[in-house]
Amino acid sequence: MKKVFGEKPKFAWSNTGKLVLISNRGPFQYKQSANGLRRVHVVSGLVSALEPVLKVRKGLWVAWSGSESLVDGLRYADSQDLKGFLWREVPLTAADIEGYYNGFANQVLWPLCHYFIEKCHLRNEYWRTYLAVNRKFARVAQAEIEWPDMVWVHDYHLSLVPAFLRYYKSSLKISFFWHIPFPQRDVFRILPWAKELLKGILGSDLIGFHLPAYVENFLGCVSDVLGIEVDFRHGELEYEGRRIAVRAFPVGVDPAVFQELARKETVIREANQLKQELKSELLALSIDRLDYSKGILERLRALELFWERNTEYLNRLTFVQIAVPTRSGVPAYRRLRKEVEELVSQINRRFGRQGWLPVHCYYRSFTKEKLAAFYAAADAALVTPLRDGLNLVAKEYVASKTDFKGVLVLSRFAGAAEEMNEAVLVNPYNIDDMEEKIKFALTMSPAEQRRRLLLLREKVLQHDSLWWVSSFLNSFPRENLHQKASVLNPGYTGRYAGEHLAKGL
Ligand code: UDP
Repeated sequence: MKKVFGEKPKFAWSNTGKLVLISNRGPFQYKQSANGLRRVHVVSGLVSALEPVLKVRKGLWVAWSGSESLVDGLRYADSQDLKGFLWREVPLTAADIEGYYNGFANQVLWPLCHYFIEKCHLRNEYWRTYLAVNRKFARVAQAEIEWPDMVWVHDYHLSLVPAFLRYYKSSLKISFFWHIPFPQRDVFRILPWAKELLKGILGSDLIGFHLPAYVENFLGCVSDVLGIEVDFRHGELEYEGRRIAVRAFPVGVDPAVFQELARKETVIREANQLKQELKSELLALSIDRLDYSKGILERLRALELFWERNTEYLNRLTFVQIAVPTRSGVPAYRRLRKEVEELVSQINRRFGRQGWLPVHCYYRSFTKEKLAAFYAAADAALVTPLRDGLNLVAKEYVASKTDFKGVLVLSRFAGAAEEMNEAVLVNPYNIDDMEEKIKFALTMSPAEQRRRLLLLREKVLQHDSLWWVSSFLNSFPRENLHQKASVLNPGYTGRYAGEHLAKGL
């Protein structure tokens, strides 16, 4: 592991201030082991999205370490491979993790926003801990921030942080990005704390979502739940004397990284080896965190139907599922793992032949280099979540296909489908549709594969990760950028209901 600092290292920030990222997880997870602290890379779309930010801006990343607070608290971590970024831990206790992360984030907001309402556990205790932990994040961060730093808070775990920060330091430039779907108002209103959550987010000057539809849903909720007038056309509203911009910016990938990997000799060799080992003429691939929103069971059922109806593909089509374990502290995720294991064995028992298995499922994560070999080898990528804020794997597959051979099968309910309509679009709830579209993909002519991938590549190149960062950070309402908010908004009272509620927690 790299050096860990107990004290803040000296670092010269530019005179436009530093960029402060605040998210639940940072790029690494720190685990105690017999040999001291071990650093593990975090696998998630958010981390993949934010890592390219580190290439262009210097700054500080404030995040939880991913496990119970380290003995003395990890104050600052080495920035060598973060290229000028420092990492600051927000220490969480076991009770914090249970109520805030396993509880409110993953058993209230995640299922609600992905329309799995029956999986929501609306518990007051979860909400109280969420409030307290959001305040903790804001407190750790505010000690590190000064004008003219730019603060960028991320995702549904930390929706109250903007308002807490505004309360502590009213003049900050605060932006917020919500990385998952934002539901329609009828669904959002199921949340007993809908008002508080919206007010928390409205501590920001700039709020981003992946899609215009999520922006519209958010503005609809602000208008309905808080009774605030909003300008739907321009994506703007006034709140506590501040002008707030709400915009759509679909996150992108760094295409150069995937193109380079796809052309690497070792990756090409590994891709060929993979196909030989799987003893397969055709390879279909899925890469997901092991999450019920990803539609893994539905996809396996569709494939079972495919082999049943198209027996000529037995021995010819192999399916590889990379299922990265995630949120194992939540019962629904532990159950899902068992269900996936059972269904995989059932399909393999039913169709497996001497020396050939139809499904290979890896319950682990891989490096980007190893993923590149999987992408290169795959004749089709089955990206079929039941609901997904965006989905980066779809974009990575396209960016990796430098030979323009391959087909992207994409769920209509992945945010990425809005841009990537040259993919073969499917309804993941409808296994007949899935079965037909898998067949359509596998029998597509090379010329049609090329045509579609060329068009898709254009879009992936146009909306890449740097476009996402720069267009987002350049969208701050101008008046909020050039003047201190407290001067700009003499009416700002500095009162935040969340702080009042959090007192005594
Ligand atoms: N990923 C990875 N190693 C793996 C599996 C996935 O690095 O073994 C990365 C993948 O390349 C992608 C991210 O994890 O960048 C997943 O992002 P996505 O938007 O598809 O889904 P999320 O996890 O955010 O729901």
